[in-house]
Amino acid sequence: MQGATMHRRPYFLWRPDWDHDHCSFCWASFELPGRPLEPNEFDEGWTTDDEYHWVCPACFSDFQERFEWSVRQRLPGDHPDTPWPQVTAQQKGIVKK
Ligand SMILES: [Zn+2]
Repeated sequence: MQGATMHRRPYFLWRPDWDHDHCSFCWASFELPGRPLEPNEFDEGWTTDDEYHWVCPACFSDFQERFEWSVRQRLPGDHPDTPWPQVTAQQKGIVKK
């Protein structure tokens, strides 16, 4: 992720059968906006240009300089936000790791 261009946005589902994601640097998790958040969970964060890798706000400030990330605005070509609730969503319970 050296030199990546990052932007901040609400978490969205990359694939419909995923329901959360993790920070690339710590175990903070990202949940869809609208869900109740527990400590160390975020409903928005920093993501790479392809929006595949997520970084939580704390790690972003810790690592921005070291990895020389630049920041951009959201662009029209970015993935759309995922509406909540999801019809296919399962009850939040055990987190698979
Ligand atoms: Zn993190």
